[in-house]
Amino acid sequence: MSDAPAPAPSDLFDKVVNLCKRRGFVFPSAEIYGGFRSTYDYGPVGVLLLRNVKDAWWRSMVQLRHDVVGLDAAILSPPAIWEASGHLKNFTDPLVDCKVCHERFRLDKLDDPDVCPKCGSKHSFTEARQFNLMFKTYAGPIEGAGAEVYLRPETAQGMFTNFKNVLETSRKRPPFGIAQIGKSFRNEITPGNFVFRTREFEQMEMEYFVPPDESPRWYEYWCAQRLAWYHDLGIPERMLRLRAHDEDELSHYSVGTSDVEFLFPWGWDELEGIANRTDYDLRQHAAHSGERLEYFDQAAGERYVPHVIEPAAGATRTAMAFLMAAYEEEEVAREGQGQGDVRTVLRFHPRIAPYKVAVLPLSKKPELSGPAGEVLAQLQPHYMCDYDETQAIGRRYRRQDELGTPFCVTIDFDTLDDHAVTVRDRDTMAQDRVPIAGLLDHLRPRLEI
Ligand code: ATP
Repeated sequence: MSDAPAPAPSDLFDKVVNLCKRRGFVFPSAEIYGGFRSTYDYGPVGVLLLRNVKDAWWRSMVQLRHDVVGLDAAILSPPAIWEASGHLKNFTDPLVDCKVCHERFRLDKLDDPDVCPKCGSKHSFTEARQFNLMFKTYAGPIEGAGAEVYLRPETAQGMFTNFKNVLETSRKRPPFGIAQIGKSFRNEITPGNFVFRTREFEQMEMEYFVPPDESPRWYEYWCAQRLAWYHDLGIPERMLRLRAHDEDELSHYSVGTSDVEFLFPWGWDELEGIANRTDYDLRQHAAHSGERLEYFDQAAGERYVPHVIEPAAGATRTAMAFLMAAYEEEEVAREGQGQGDVRTVLRFHPRIAPYKVAVLPLSKKPELSGPAGEVLAQLQPHYMCDYDETQAIGRRYRRQDELGTPFCVTIDFDTLDDHAVTVRDRDTMAQDRVPIAGLLDHLRPRLEI
């Protein structure tokens, strides 16, 4: 492995942000107009990374289980939902203003609640005001009372309001879950740390409905499952932990919450919360809507309101954690030249890597496009491939290292005679000569997906 010193944590943040822009992972939104307030767009490589994170979650939470079904609920929602859920009243953060520099802060996120982190003034904050984080807008041509709608601040409520629909149509019975991936919106007081905290972001949430007396067991189960998910996808154990909330941290609906935390360059911070929400949500929606949101257990002749265990993760935040965990710099001999060189490599798990394979004809000469096309045609139905035919091959390898592509396949002039290609491994940089006809069989076990 690497002889070069690992980049210092503060350095790591800047390096990853820089790489994201340079290689097309993440761009500041509306950049040609000067950017738009901590809002980001995912570029050609970032969109693949984000999709892979969401697909890996869906695979583990829905595809590989028989007890979880999917949902895609609306983002625009009527006030009644948020009245019932408690968000209109409780979904607030404490906001303070510094009377000296007029900067705004979220009180509960300050290192020292008496010192302004911008200007250093002491005891300069206003009294905290509770600031509601929901984005409000108006449906239809007339703005005003009666037309208000909200952009959802979490995907969860769609699962509760559809509980009866899903129960009646899916033939599932508790314990069972409803999973959803989608955008959520929060008018954060202090967005920041790149895509860690933004006002528009993507969540991956699942509500798991269980018989009330089974909820402690399922809570433990989901804490363990979710921690393992990150680890199995390549985040090292030393960068992951599960932290149980103290009593005073619990949300209004929760009797137990644990966060999966990642060691970001600024310290431990949340990737996902796993909460035991009891029957709070179903009871609230039943009371406000007048619908019966219960399960009738025919065998036991019993009617009950299921309790809910909720693993709630952020897709965009998790994509950033995968980037941070994968980033490495190492000193290597320059390929083909023998000189010392530092290479940057993203050591993504193959399932997370944006491209699985890069197809690289050594030259743009037409005689190589035939076999290159043959290789692409063989691989593309199975794997997301990049194709690049310009620049020196060493530079193209470095570019693929920075995208985290596990394998490069090089087509050279010998290919015309031996019908074989060179397969280069991202992590070891080892090169193997492999017949084109056997390429898929060669790559499949190595890509572990
Ligand atoms: P925080 O304490 O960081 O504000 P939270 O505890 O309110 O987060 P949840 O409501 O539990 O967050 O949301 C579930 C997940 O959604 C979080 O663990 C995080 O990964 C993601 N998430 C929440 N808010 C944001 C945001 N503003 N930007 C990006 N991801 C977010």
